[in-house]
Amino acid sequence: MNQGRVTLVGAGPGDPDLLTVKAARVIAQASLLLVDDLVSDAIVALARPGARIVYVGKRGGCRSTPQAFIEKLMLTAARDGETVVRLKGGDPFIFGRGGEEVAHLRAAGIEVDVVNGITAGLAGATAIGVPLTHRDHAQGVVFITGHAKRGGTPTDWRALAATARDAHLTLVIYMGVAGVQQLQYGLLTGLPAHTPVAVVQNASLPTQRSCVTELGQLADTLESNNIASPAIIVVGEVARAAMLAQSMHEQAATMTVSA
Ligand code: SAH
Repeated sequence: MNQGRVTLVGAGPGDPDLLTVKAARVIAQASLLLVDDLVSDAIVALARPGARIVYVGKRGGCRSTPQAFIEKLMLTAARDGETVVRLKGGDPFIFGRGGEEVAHLRAAGIEVDVVNGITAGLAGATAIGVPLTHRDHAQGVVFITGHAKRGGTPTDWRALAATARDAHLTLVIYMGVAGVQQLQYGLLTGLPAHTPVAVVQNASLPTQRSCVTELGQLADTLESNNIASPAIIVVGEVARAAMLAQSMHEQAATMTVSA
């Protein structure tokens, strides 16, 4: 029997229209799909009739399926000749453990391809009108996790704040809600309390919510607005664009109310 192959596919932030054409084609060809939590049903629905679909995130039953089990499943299925698609939220290589999965499969002699997806940091910023590298305000952008691997080095918010300030960088923080207090205190060592911050939850989905605030108020604002994971936190002058969008929206709402 011919050996199958595995393709890691980025499913984007949730809106099925943000899927790439290549991702849609590969999904439709798969005989087995292993699906992460943050992948929307409309995307899974692109699978061909009869394809086997395995949910490997929380909706699969357990808290989340152990990585070793997922990797073993992909390996066994590929050896059985299946066309395996591993559907991951956003982009497979941005905080998605795609690198680990590719290394594991290649070490076992399995062919692996990777198809990009639009990462949540990009989609989230655009969804609320924030141009991440507007040249009047930023010379670059950092994608950073607020949640280090267990036992790994925690994010050095102090160093990051100093670098963002000195090099004019926008910070795009993934998985930052749970540790927002430390993140805020750490960043305040190098960035002013009035630094604009925009936060977007469920970016690109009908349930999208966002708020804009200042670094000194970040944790309080998230709490009072009930912003929860999955969310992206954008720190830097560029986030002011979201502020303007919001105040325009508020003005429109006020005008509607007073009309
Ligand atoms: N590979 C993914 C990231 C996985 S880490 C990507 O490239 O987007 C999971 C984190 O991504 C979440 O904690 C959250 O910070 C972010 N995230 C994923 N989907 C999101 C969405 N629709 N809206 C806002 N943040 C999202």
